[in-house]
Amino acid sequence: MMAAARWLLLCSALATLGVPGAARASAGCAGAALAVQILGSGGPAAEPGRASSGYLLWQGGRSRVLVDAGGGVFVRFGEAGARIEDLELIAITHLHVDHVADLPAILKTGFFSGRNRPLPLAGPDGNEVMPAMDEFVRILFDPAKGAFRYLSGFLDGSGGLFRLDVHPVPSRSGTPRTVFEHAAFRVDAVGVRHGPLPALAYRIISEGKRIVFSGDLNGDNPAFARLARGADVLVMDHAVPDDADPVARRLHATPREIGRMAGEAGVKMLLLSHRMGRTLGREDESLTAIRQHYQGPVRFAEDLQCARIPLASDESMR
Ligand SMILES: [Zn+2]
Repeated sequence: MMAAARWLLLCSALATLGVPGAARASAGCAGAALAVQILGSGGPAAEPGRASSGYLLWQGGRSRVLVDAGGGVFVRFGEAGARIEDLELIAITHLHVDHVADLPAILKTGFFSGRNRPLPLAGPDGNEVMPAMDEFVRILFDPAKGAFRYLSGFLDGSGGLFRLDVHPVPSRSGTPRTVFEHAAFRVDAVGVRHGPLPALAYRIISEGKRIVFSGDLNGDNPAFARLARGADVLVMDHAVPDDADPVARRLHATPREIGRMAGEAGVKMLLLSHRMGRTLGREDESLTAIRQHYQGPVRFAEDLQCARIPLASDESMR
């Protein structure tokens, strides 16, 4: 087994077996010093056992960053043992429904928590096909016209709700920029190409380790290659096969393109998510294509799977 695979312990057995609720959570990340947990490994098509996109960064034993909040992530957030009081940031890659539909449901859990400090929320800017992150939040919570106007306290901290501190991030820049800094980690973002949508990829750096989330992107993303360079874990969308039609390829990278990006970036672990009917059951075929350019460890994501990332202090004890 490769060294990178040895120190990346994936606790997926129970989730793979489809063990429900509490048993699944026991295979999770709660208490991890540094880990990424899959909350949703699916896409917009309904599949048994797969929520839409959502990921948690665990750091210092706490659920610190939520990346995306697609349908079903609300349930997985609870099953994972995550706490909204512990979140330092919600980072949204783009506003397709399978990445953001459960955002208001997850925020609402804050009303029943002890949280009253503001919650930073990062997401892309807008264009003619999508609102910007701050406009999206106003569409949800505007006190006069919002879809959920009864939760307008998310705009100003009134009504027992915490205030959202919204950061729209330019998505057309090819230069990674820091969007959030915390004493224990930093979050960078860069714009990526996902059809006509404003879309972001994120990199979290903590304890010298790099965890990268592609969001949804196609195979033509030089800026993303810079963000992903040397990643300890790269969570990548695996929504289409190599024989996908041109429309699908404008939205998503094929396995061959995924392998090329992972290989060029020299990532230490590739975690394939956003799994759909188009790629489910074709894992051997995907692996063969990826192996043309990338020889490192590859894992296929399952809901609640936990990738623990041992720190330098752990490694020195071996
Ligand atoms: Zn998308």
